[in-house]
Amino acid sequence: MEVTEDQISNIVEVVLKNVQNQLGDMPAARAGSSPKGEDGIFATIEEAVTHSLAAQEQFVEMELSKRVDIIRAIRDAMEESARTLAEMAVREVAFGRIEDKIKKNLLAARKAPGIEALPTTAWSGDDGLTLVERGPYGVIGSITPTTNPVATITSNAISMLAGGNSVVFNPHPRSKGVTNRAIQIINQAIVAAGGPPNLLCSVIEPTIETSNELMNHPMIRMLMVTGGPGVVAVAMKTGKKVVAAGPGNPPVIVDDTANIPRAAKDIVDGASFDNNVLCIAEKEVYCFEDVTDQLKEEMKKYGAYEISGKQIEDLISLVFVDPAGEHPKINTKWVGIDAWRILREIDIRVNEDVRLIIAEVPDEHSFVNAEMLMPVLPIVRVNTIEEALERAKRAEHGFRHTACMHSESVSNMSYVARYIDTTIFVKNAPSYAGLGFGGEGHASLSIAGPTGEGITGPFAFTRERRCVLAGSFRIV
Ligand code: NAD
Repeated sequence: MEVTEDQISNIVEVVLKNVQNQLGDMPAARAGSSPKGEDGIFATIEEAVTHSLAAQEQFVEMELSKRVDIIRAIRDAMEESARTLAEMAVREVAFGRIEDKIKKNLLAARKAPGIEALPTTAWSGDDGLTLVERGPYGVIGSITPTTNPVATITSNAISMLAGGNSVVFNPHPRSKGVTNRAIQIINQAIVAAGGPPNLLCSVIEPTIETSNELMNHPMIRMLMVTGGPGVVAVAMKTGKKVVAAGPGNPPVIVDDTANIPRAAKDIVDGASFDNNVLCIAEKEVYCFEDVTDQLKEEMKKYGAYEISGKQIEDLISLVFVDPAGEHPKINTKWVGIDAWRILREIDIRVNEDVRLIIAEVPDEHSFVNAEMLMPVLPIVRVNTIEEALERAKRAEHGFRHTACMHSESVSNMSYVARYIDTTIFVKNAPSYAGLGFGGEGHASLSIAGPTGEGITGPFAFTRERRCVLAGSFRIV
């Protein structure tokens, strides 16, 4: 049978319509299909770095007020796209919670610090005037995770640009579509605000190879690496200046002075937020013996479901590739998956409003040792604050990332705050309060524990420069 040209064009039209319906209002960048060279997305790292360098050279020549306009435009654009990008992220990576991702996207857009976080220092005296300002590194290479694909780009972009830098991102391959789309939206906002094109760059097909190429590129002056222990170790070997936001395994201590109903709600809220993929999210609880039963009962009121005995064994078989040792290997298939779906796999049927699986286990259990990144929270009984601290420190593996505590005892809280030695310590709130979400302070989705910059802002992405005028310019 012969097919006419009209028939072919009809078929093409139907197919195109079908694809469009499925994508909804998703733009071309979905699943990494952004065209070469469009709004900062290039075929190769070499092209990305070259264009980023040209953009940075233009950018530093602009007035500071223009930088302020550009950052305002980025915030507005990312607020506006928060929902679309959250939906796109969940569709692409197939984990996490849309409503929570919207909150993360908005947090980064609103609270990532900008140019106001760059102080100028001056000294004047008999020997004249000395001025200290913060200058850009140039082109920064940023390796980003799949767990916060949009919010990491947003907070990095705002704080790196505030310092006068440009950035080449290597997104996680699993979330390249949504990450590159976020980069395009930000670049469009920058250009609309009068900034140069390509201040943010990326590659169409990011891989481990492009990640390594970026990290070792001679024009990349500093690295921001947000991810697990593997990528942090690789970055450290490059010999470049590295700001490393590595893994966490945040312990929570609940003592017998705590407001237990409130602690229970805060812990469930924090540990189930975006299905626990946040590095700062509560990963294991050390609870005083005499309040543990009450804590568990209260947690159940807020969406926790307790498993025990064989159910725990079944869950171990499901979610670990290797449950042994100090760093058990999780099966990444279950990262960020809804609690009720995980339970269904071990033949437990519950409503979709179950947000968190809890399990009472002995210390040093696989659930305690692993950075699970899924809504599974082990609870361990302890008897004293000293025991709680010692066990919490061990579970944290020296990452110096985040810890939480629920208590009304000033002395217990002061003791743990001092000796837990983490970058973030949250008292009587969900862990995300430590990122300025329901807590004071600025936000970033790159928390640099290993290299010590903390919740990164423009200060971390700038160099100190000192200008000395000897003998003059003191005016009094
Ligand atoms: P991941 O380590 O698998 O990937 C992160 C990035 O590193 C990706 O872009 C990936 O392509 C790249 N990468 C991974 N291994 C590499 C290698 N050997 N060489 C070169 N590049 C490599 O992490 P993920 O699953 O995307 O994110 C989860 C992890 O990141 C968790 O451990 C979490 O705690 C951590 N994290 C930390 C922070 C923080 O602020 N400290 C924030 C988000 C995530």
